[in-house]
Amino acid sequence: MTESGSLDAAGQAGTARYDVLVVGAGIVGLGVAYAAHRRGLRVLVCERASEVVGASVRNFGHLCFTPQSGRAYEFAQRSRELWRELAREADFWLQETGTWVVARTDEEFAVLREFARVRGPREVHTHTVASIESKVPVAEAVGGVLLPLDCQVNPREAASAVRAYLQRCGVEFRFRTAVGAVASGVAHTSRGDIRADQIVLATNHDIDLLMPDLAQQHGVLRCGLDMMRVTMGLRAPLTAPLLTGWSLLRYSGFADMAATVDLRARLHSEFPELAQLDLNEMYTQLPDGSVIVGDTHYRGESVASFQREIAFDSLLSLARERFDVTDVRVLERWQGMYASAANEFLQDIRPDTGIHVAVVTTGIGMSCGLGFAEHTVARIFADSTWAGASPVLREAAAVTTSRHPDHELTGSVQ
Ligand SMILES: Cc1cc2nc3c(=O)[nH]c(=O)nc-3n(C[C@H](O)[C@H](O)[C@H](O)COP(=O)(O)OP(=O)(O)OC[C@H]3O[C@@H](n4cnc5c(N)ncnc54)[C@H](O)[C@@H]3O)c2cc1C
Repeated sequence: MTESGSLDAAGQAGTARYDVLVVGAGIVGLGVAYAAHRRGLRVLVCERASEVVGASVRNFGHLCFTPQSGRAYEFAQRSRELWRELAREADFWLQETGTWVVARTDEEFAVLREFARVRGPREVHTHTVASIESKVPVAEAVGGVLLPLDCQVNPREAASAVRAYLQRCGVEFRFRTAVGAVASGVAHTSRGDIRADQIVLATNHDIDLLMPDLAQQHGVLRCGLDMMRVTMGLRAPLTAPLLTGWSLLRYSGFADMAATVDLRARLHSEFPELAQLDLNEMYTQLPDGSVIVGDTHYRGESVASFQREIAFDSLLSLARERFDVTDVRVLERWQGMYASAANEFLQDIRPDTGIHVAVVTTGIGMSCGLGFAEHTVARIFADSTWAGASPVLREAAAVTTSRHPDHELTGSVQ
């Protein structure tokens, strides 16, 4: 067998046949590889870059398990177990301090109180303004909640640590190897053909290149995001990821609340320029003390290569206001990208061809991707023992796609 990334004597990518070939070494591809490896299968991951470089390193590292709904909630709950297990086994930093969601207005607090009532004290702890001010370095809060089950990882390390762990377990990786096309049992790569019984495409937004018709059929677009990492003189450390304001409109768990209607109307009428940037106001502090600040969203079949300074200006001015600081210094700016569609997941299982697609089509892949990936593998092998809690998704894993096409699984399963 060839070494990772090298050619064999015939100039081919090796003559071995794999049980599962995973295309893409982001968190979803790694999750598929992990689940397949745990079934005792021979697994190869093919990645066109030289390391894990995609959305899985460009994000906040926020494992936002709680404010999801429907399938996303189920995948998030299973992802939580998998992240904790992997952090132990692969030995990377995972912080179990939850998420702070701070309300700056009565409308925001109304959404959070409703959410607390619906979810109960296991998932949501309500805090008064005095309590928030003593625990979170924000200014002008009117109250807030802690979502204690949420977690945080360092996105620059976590996926790479999972990759290294899987390599130690015997999963093979071939970097700098781009897959150009797939057919039943074979992937045509930039280093020759690779043969596998099952091929899973976990390519994020690049699914529109490998499977353009499928992507079009599911309305998959690309979503670009502006992000930055800053230092600022916070009056106390940010002990957990912080969501506020616009974030309450984004996560489906909050967005489902009746009180969100008023909040949406007010934010859109009061701040039309921020609404245009499709903002998610969010902050995570890394172990070195720097803070990831984001983000904005813009969608299309392709997204602009050039990031607009107005987006960064807006994010910085919100950060100054939120933490009541003036000394914000930008260390890095970057553009992230993910697949975006009306449904949150594109899971296309094709037992007839052995070519399957696993793409998270919204910005929650760090929170839901591992559970989603494991469920994808369970469906490929028609296995009803999927470890997630949802009976609907377990049953879905056990039956053929003709009875359960993807669109039948999009409703709430809670
Ligand atoms: C700025 C930003 C912030 C985010 N914040 C969060 C967050 O805090 N919490 C959260 O839950 N989610 C967050 N997300 C979403 C989350 O990061 C993504 O949903 C998740 O990382 C997607 O994982 P993936 O494996 O599908 O994609 P990726 O990590 O992008 O991996 C796909 C891989 O496939 C490879 N590839 C593509 N085509 C080919 C090919 N033809 N041949 C070989 N390899 C190929 C690519 O090179 C890439 O490495 C954020 C996303 C962004 C962009």
